[in-house]
Amino acid sequence: MSYRVVLLGPPASGKGTVAAALSVTLQVAHVSTGQLFRETIRRGGLAGQAARQFIDKGQLVPDDVVIAIVREWLDDHGTKPEFIFDGFPRTVTQADAFDEMMAARSLTRPTVILIEVPAELTIERILGRLGCVNCAALYHAEFDPPRQAGVCDKCGGRLVRRADDTEATVRERLRWYTDLTLGVVSHYERAGGLQRVDGRQGKQQVFADVLRIVKS
Ligand code: AMP
Repeated sequence: MSYRVVLLGPPASGKGTVAAALSVTLQVAHVSTGQLFRETIRRGGLAGQAARQFIDKGQLVPDDVVIAIVREWLDDHGTKPEFIFDGFPRTVTQADAFDEMMAARSLTRPTVILIEVPAELTIERILGRLGCVNCAALYHAEFDPPRQAGVCDKCGGRLVRRADDTEATVRERLRWYTDLTLGVVSHYERAGGLQRVDGRQGKQQVFADVLRIVKS
């Protein structure tokens, strides 16, 4: 069985956590465009600086930049790539370009799952979120704390808050989600096959629901 999955949802809906767990269970690459940008920024250089201007303000990186990195990722991963995309596509232009990339490789449309979470919960989750600088594992200072404060349970790496996890930026990211990414939800809904999971549940249940859909 080939696995091609797209996880949609607002910021902090649990896409990253579910995608990381799915990647381990299915042995399929987890591709987070946000994470690709954060790595580019850490490496320094012009591409990172350009992306950072948008990310730090909670704005979306321009479509042509995002589409180029996804195309490059697909080109680097063989003729029948398998993946779990988290955070892509975020606009209808990206979704259209992605459809074309799939068609050009004679691949059928991926399994598209929307993790639904209300805005208030998104804000609460983001303001306590901590991520490992080394392995990108995620925690929450209150709801899902690490065993030792500031240290990743999985690899011992340092835990930090993301530069764009501030209240002002979260509200901006939610606005972009409502304005643009909900168009992506309609795009896949119109094509049929969009599936929904209740992201208010505990992360194990969200994961179980997503896994059942992916395997069905
Ligand atoms: P994430 O880690 O998915 O929350 O993404 C962090 C930030 O990276 C977003 O707020 C955007 O600024 C940028 N980003 C990630 N993926 C995309 C995308 N598909 N389109 C535009 N911007 C993106």
